[in-house]
Amino acid sequence: MTIFNDVKLAKELIRFPSITPMDAGVMRFLEKKLKKLGFKTKIIEFKEKNFKPVKNLYARIGSKGPNFCYAGHLDVVPPGNINDWTINPFKPSVKKGHLIGRGANDMKSSIAAFVSAVSIFLKRNNKFDKSISLLITGDEEGDAVNGTKKVVDYLKKRKEKINFCLVGEPTNPNKLGEMIKIGRRGSLTGNLIIYGIQGHVAYPQRANNPSTTIIKILNELKNIKFDKGTKDFQPTNLEITKINISNNADNVIPGSAEATFNIRFNNKHTSNSIKKRLNKVFKKITKKNKSKFKVNFRVSGEAFLTSPNKTTYMIQKVIKKITKIKPKLSTSGGTSDLRFIRKISPGLEFGLVGKTMHKVDEAVSLKDLKNLTKIYQNILQNYF
Ligand SMILES: [Zn+2]
Repeated sequence: MTIFNDVKLAKELIRFPSITPMDAGVMRFLEKKLKKLGFKTKIIEFKEKNFKPVKNLYARIGSKGPNFCYAGHLDVVPPGNINDWTINPFKPSVKKGHLIGRGANDMKSSIAAFVSAVSIFLKRNNKFDKSISLLITGDEEGDAVNGTKKVVDYLKKRKEKINFCLVGEPTNPNKLGEMIKIGRRGSLTGNLIIYGIQGHVAYPQRANNPSTTIIKILNELKNIKFDKGTKDFQPTNLEITKINISNNADNVIPGSAEATFNIRFNNKHTSNSIKKRLNKVFKKITKKNKSKFKVNFRVSGEAFLTSPNKTTYMIQKVIKKITKIKPKLSTSGGTSDLRFIRKISPGLEFGLVGKTMHKVDEAVSLKDLKNLTKIYQNILQNYF
């Protein structure tokens, strides 16, 4: 039985420039490695009009339950200006105890840790007769249209049972062991355009200035107290991200004004309840100011919470044993693929320290990587 070394495998994965949604051959590479361990594998490619096709991988060893699943993504964000890096981002190298490369943190090293953990686990438990599976997507950093969302539907249709899922995203702010994520806030982006009447600045009575209206609206939006937060979630927050009143002249009242805002909301709301609330503000103020509005909303995810169960607490204990830190159960940060997976399985997220994710010289400490492999291996040992 083969044993995979986590650092070596992480390096091999980083060498594929799988900039989202490109696959660059990395999915087949991982598939081959899993086959060597005895996994039954399937590469599932999804297509949808206006989006690039994406390869996903589902692999399972064993046919009996329970089925413990590990989920993650092999796509990475673009490296940005390569000259800003101290190394070529796709030629990983180790410096001062850190492995550097695009995806070293988010999240190829975590996948390497899990595969290494499984290889050690299988070697030690040669009569293993339950199931371990991997759900790996190539569409997490991009549109997330042809990725985990569709794999989950695919598995549901085939009545594939997953009993618990660990998503290996980087969850720790500073030190390995600090944080498990059990849910995420929802995210809603709105783009608002206010239409007024263009005119001469000296004759404001003949015009209707949309900047006045949009400032009033944005001020009211920013002052909404959505909630005070909950036991599991921080308060819902709205941030204005763009204001655009393009105007080439200084003596002209503009005809329209535009703004974009994003709301991170907790599970006291749905994207629909928030939209309703905001629309009321738009209607009230534009009516008063005799102007018109158009709004476009984009929802990247609803808020969700996966209630902790005995596996959650077992994982918390394992992490504490190895890192000497008791991880907090948190719902902070952006959205993740757990929002799709929770429809078919309970789960949580635990991975590396996210400090350098998406940055130049993205890196993982070799000590953390070794400990993560140990944690994943201990989780399997305790789960089965
Ligand atoms: Zn990620």
